[in-house]
Amino acid sequence: MTNVTCWQSQHDEQTDLSVWQSVPSTPWLQWVDGELVLVLPPGQRGSVNGLPVVGGLQVVGSGDLVRVKAPGGSATAFVVGEVQSRSEPGNGRNCHFCGLAIRGEAVRCACGRLFCSAIRKTYDRCPRCGRQFQAATRPSERLL
Ligand SMILES: [Zn+2]
Ligand SMILES: [Zn+2]
Repeated sequence: MTNVTCWQSQHDEQTDLSVWQSVPSTPWLQWVDGELVLVLPPGQRGSVNGLPVVGGLQVVGSGDLVRVKAPGGSATAFVVGEVQSRSEPGNGRNCHFCGLAIRGEAVRCACGRLFCSAIRKTYDRCPRCGRQFQAATRPSERLL
């Protein structure tokens, strides 16, 4: 599981408008050395922002339009959303804010810094980069 929410544009029959819906699972996205990478299984083809993915690997970022096509012909298209903060075991590593060793659960911000869970309870955003913890903003309407 990656801590990235991706979005699909879907047509709403009742209002006759397109709406953004979060994609429940994006198995093609993986973290490789701190970068978010689109990894295509053998036989699947894909493109990022209309350009074909060469060699089955492509670094992607927030706002990129990804299309994946399975051998059977079913295609998936989604927009890569914001990277969110995620929880992980602290394992005694030092908090980037208070400097103390983290016991129990830690929170890793989208900027990569690790904090003790007390920080998340005290602030709702990262004290270093200012990103909101667990914020998932939808892509702007003009992308529809
Ligand atoms: Zn701390
Ligand atoms: Zn941060």
